[in-house]
Amino acid sequence: MSEQRVVLVTGGNRGIGRSIAERFVREGYRVAVTARSGEGPDGTLTVRADVTDAAAIDAAFTEVEEKLGPIEIVVANAGITKDTLLLRMSEDDFDSVIATNLGGTFRVVKRASKGMLRARFGRVILISSVVGLYGSAGQINYSASKSALVGFARSLTRELGSRGITANVVAPGFIETDMTAELPEDTQKQYKANIPAGRFASPDEVAGVVTWLAGDDAAYISGAVIPVDGGLGMGH
Ligand code: NDP
Repeated sequence: MSEQRVVLVTGGNRGIGRSIAERFVREGYRVAVTARSGEGPDGTLTVRADVTDAAAIDAAFTEVEEKLGPIEIVVANAGITKDTLLLRMSEDDFDSVIATNLGGTFRVVKRASKGMLRARFGRVILISSVVGLYGSAGQINYSASKSALVGFARSLTRELGSRGITANVVAPGFIETDMTAELPEDTQKQYKANIPAGRFASPDEVAGVVTWLAGDDAAYISGAVIPVDGGLGMGH
């Protein structure tokens, strides 16, 4: 039964990660979240970890494995933005976004792959963004970090696909979280005018796709990019 499996969601204390964790709990999985601050939702085990720190990730995995058992599903969700135009973008604006969104995914998935190889089962789900392939002025660092996840998942699929491990990318459009709440109202209006669905999505609309990818019905899907963007990125 897929629902008894152990799931780890990074950045599960708020936003999309929190909704994903809540959804896995509702569906009966054993769920752990990493958080730098705060706690995961009710029914989850919260472990402290910053995804830029490989030793902290290793310790977090060890704690979850001891308390819940081997981690079979990992959702690399923790991410940040540091938006500005290219000419104003500092080395730190660029490096910190890459180190969190891409480097964090590398550290988490590398650590997760050990147990998955042993179990000959694993589901790796990477949270990218519509802007990874669509592009976005002012988000060169973020967009590059998110499109890189497509090459990551596809290479992982080729490396580990024969061991019962799948790797997929979920590419959300505009989702109602702290990240989008920061956008000025005018900008939000402008974005909504370009989204065929005419609205932003709730985090739970992303969570439902993630739990579906983790379930038995998605066993033969790997290296895919699943958009959850109301039609914004069609064709990308
Ligand atoms: P939020 O800003 O609401 O939450 C971000 C989460 O990531 C928090 O839990 C945060 O932890 C965690 N995090 C950030 N940096 C680190 C780090 N170095 N180590 C550990 N955890 C970290 O973001 P969203 O929920 O909106 O976004 C979640 C994911 O979805 C991100 O990868 C984002 O790029 C992606 N996404 C979001 C979209 C949107 O419209 N909201 C659209 C497309 C993609 P803490 O609370 O400790 O800071």
